[in-house]
Amino acid sequence: MPTEDTAMVVVMRHAATSTEIQNVVDAVEGVGGDAFVSRGKNQTIVGLVGDLAQFSEMPLHAFPGVDDVIRVSRPYKLVSNETHPRPSTVWVEDVPIGRDTMTLIAGPCAVETEDQTLAAAKMARDAGAMILRGGAYKPRTSPYAFQGLGEKGLDILASVAKEVDLPVVTEVVTPADVDIVAAKADMLQIGARNMQNFQLLREVGIAGKPVLLKRGLTATIDEWIMAAEYIAHQGNLQIVFCERGIRTYEPATRNTLDVSAVPVVQSLTHLPVIVDPSHSGGSRELVLPLARAGMAVGADGLIIDVHPRPETALCDGPQALKREDMVALRDAVATLTPALGRRLPERRDPAAASDGAWGRSAT
Ligand code: PEP
Ligand code: MN
Repeated sequence: MPTEDTAMVVVMRHAATSTEIQNVVDAVEGVGGDAFVSRGKNQTIVGLVGDLAQFSEMPLHAFPGVDDVIRVSRPYKLVSNETHPRPSTVWVEDVPIGRDTMTLIAGPCAVETEDQTLAAAKMARDAGAMILRGGAYKPRTSPYAFQGLGEKGLDILASVAKEVDLPVVTEVVTPADVDIVAAKADMLQIGARNMQNFQLLREVGIAGKPVLLKRGLTATIDEWIMAAEYIAHQGNLQIVFCERGIRTYEPATRNTLDVSAVPVVQSLTHLPVIVDPSHSGGSRELVLPLARAGMAVGADGLIIDVHPRPETALCDGPQALKREDMVALRDAVATLTPALGRRLPERRDPAAASDGAWGRSAT
């Protein structure tokens, strides 16, 4: 099995002769590559390992006896479904996020006070959320904006999570905070603005807790998947992608929800993908339609901002759902989930064996 970044496969025609096969091998070896011939019952394929750019310059398609030339190895390996064809389920404590279920994550954008966090958490739980979200460290565009309560916010979040009996996801913005956040939360969020903070990606990889990896504002899908590979490279494969909208020329929405990214990432990796309709639309009215779109396109879950009094919110009030919106969201999730061939997740019996949560051992 080739392990280099740059592998290609040459599929020979059924009737290809030994000389034609040898010509391909000679050409590849002639530019310093390696060629592995595997003779199947119906077809022979030649695996090419080496410098893909050089192989691409060779007219392999035109060689006699060649049927097709396919690039098989993507630059990412551990998160690629080439190496793990079966979709993985990521467990956040006892809650699954995976291809058969629809996992709702909800909570306040930012932890402001204990009362506000608890009220938002109850609204989330009542709407069927299985995981609580809430930011203690907020990456803000302006240094004058509310930056989050920091460690105090983590403590509030942890105590509220305990009270509502939900696991919790929260953002970590700097490598120095990874240990403390990992000690107090069940899942670590990498925000859009930090998607290519490679040191932070490494540290959350080492921390070993599940990671929610948001897509960068201007990140391509390949860059986003490579960011996941950084985390996986440290032995942590418990990664969930989150499409949260990208920056386009369109100012009518906060970001443009790239619905195509969901099936694209699912077709390239074995990891779950969820959608954040709150940060993509940026306004309350858009959350439900975008949530429906995300579910319809195959998202494995949703992450939603909720606030008991959005007009007083210190962060992202305009996009926070109110109580009645959460009821509508709950109904949409309940209706669409079975219609899409999925089920609402059930919490795992703590005694049950681990399924797909590969942790640090997976390399
Ligand atoms: C958030 O989830 O609160 C957040 C800051 O999101 P993003 O990084 O997607 O902007
Ligand atoms: Mn926010």
